[in-house]
Amino acid sequence: MDFEFNSQQEALYNRITDLCRQHLPEDPDQSPEKNKDAALEAYPEALYQAMVDAGVLELPGNEDDGSAWENTSTFITAEAAAASSYTAMLTYIWGKPAAAFLQWGCTPEQKERWRPDLVAGKARYAFALIEPEAGSDLTALGCVAEPTADGYVLNGDKSYVMGAAHADHIAVVARAPNDANIREATSVFMVPVDAPGLSMENMELTVGRSVGCAEVHLDDVKVGKDQLLGEENEGWGGVMIANGHSRLLVSAGAVGLARNVLASALEYARDRQQFGRPIGRFQAISHRLAEMATEIEAMHLLTYQAASLTDKGDIADKQIAMAKVYCSQKLSEIVMSAQKIMGGRACLRNGPTSRKLDEAMITLFHGGTNEVLNTYIKKCLDLGQ
Ligand SMILES: Cc1cc2nc3c(=O)[nH]c(=O)nc-3n(C[C@H](O)[C@H](O)[C@H](O)COP(=O)(O)OP(=O)(O)OC[C@H]3O[C@@H](n4cnc5c(N)ncnc54)[C@H](O)[C@@H]3O)c2cc1C
Repeated sequence: MDFEFNSQQEALYNRITDLCRQHLPEDPDQSPEKNKDAALEAYPEALYQAMVDAGVLELPGNEDDGSAWENTSTFITAEAAAASSYTAMLTYIWGKPAAAFLQWGCTPEQKERWRPDLVAGKARYAFALIEPEAGSDLTALGCVAEPTADGYVLNGDKSYVMGAAHADHIAVVARAPNDANIREATSVFMVPVDAPGLSMENMELTVGRSVGCAEVHLDDVKVGKDQLLGEENEGWGGVMIANGHSRLLVSAGAVGLARNVLASALEYARDRQQFGRPIGRFQAISHRLAEMATEIEAMHLLTYQAASLTDKGDIADKQIAMAKVYCSQKLSEIVMSAQKIMGGRACLRNGPTSRKLDEAMITLFHGGTNEVLNTYIKKCLDLGQ
C-alpha cells in the first residue's frame, strides 16, 4: 500500500502549482479592496481558463469515455491549487459538486448533454443543496418542485451557493410536494441563472470573496422536463455521492493549505534571529514545526487512502468523513502553531498567515460540519443506540 504520488501525479501537482503561480500570483483576498462588487469582479478568470486548457475540469472517474481522469487526480489538483492560495483552490472546486452529480446521479444521455460544455469551459454549473432552514438537517429541505404538464415549477430558497455569481446554470436540489420521506422524493434540476423568478444575493464571505457564495431565491421558476438531472424523485443517492466528493475535495484542499502555512512558518523560523540565532534552532519552535510536518503527512495519508478507495469503486463514506474531520481540524491547529511562530507578525494585516485562520475555519463547515460527520463515524463504531 503506497499513497505517495507516482511520477504522473507529481507532474500534475507541479503543473497546477505552476498554473496558479502564473495566472494568480497574488490571492485577491490579499487586496485591501472591501467593496463586494469589486471582490466579485476579481474572479480569477485567467486561472479558470488555464485550468480548462489543462483539462482538469474533467468529470471525476470518467473512465467510460476513455479518459484516464481518476478521482485521485481531482484531489491532487485541489491540493496543488490550495498550496498556492485559498482562492485558487475555490476556483477549482466550486463547480465540482455539480460535476460529481453529473457523473454519478445522471443518465448517460443527460451526462452527454451537460458534460462537454463544462469540460470545455463553455458552461459553469453551481450546486444548490443547503437552505436557510436546512443546513446539516437535509431532511428539512423545503425547496419544492411541483410537477406540471410540461415540466416543473420550483419554489424555495438556497444558501451558500458557491460560485453562483459566475455560473450560467445552478443544479438545484428540490423535493416533491407533500412527500414525507426526502430519500424517495429528491430531484435535481439544471436551472439557467437567467430563468424568470430566479434571483440571487451575495453572501459576503470573510475569505474567498472573489469566488463567493450567494443566496438563491426561486419564485415560481418554470423548468422543462429536459432540465431534470437523473430520474424524478431518485436524486438522493447522487446528492450523497456529490457531498462525499465535496468533502474529499475539502480534505485535499486542507492538505494544500497546511503545506502553504508550514512553508511560511519554516521560512520565518530560518530567517528570524533572536538571542543571536534563528528561532528555528530553539527546541520549542523546532518541535512545533516537526509536529506540523507530521500532521500534514497524516492528513495526506487519510485523504489519499479515501481517494484510492473511491477510485476502486468502494464505498468509502467512513474514510471520507474521517479524512474531512481530521484534515480540517488539524489545519486549524497548524495555522495556530504557525501564528505562534510568527510572533507579532501574525497580527499584521498582510502577513503570510493573515486570513489563514478564516480559511481554516471554513474547511470545518464546507462540505458538512465535523460534528455531524463525527456522528456518522460514531455510527460505524457499533456503540449501540
Ligand atoms: C464557503 C462555503 C461554501 C459552501 N458551498 C456550498 C455550495 O456550493 N452548495 C451548498 O448547497 N452548500 C454550500 N455550503 C454550505 C455548507 O454545506 C453548510 O454550511 C454546512 O452543511 C452546515 O450547514 P449550516 O451552516 O447551516 O450549519 P448548521 O447545520 O446550522 O449547524 C450549526 C452548528 O450546529 C451543529 N449541529 C447541527 N446539527 C447537529 C447534530 N445533529 N449534532 C451535533 N451538532 C449539530 C453543527 O455541527 C454546527 O456546529 C458552503 C458553505 C461554506 C461555508
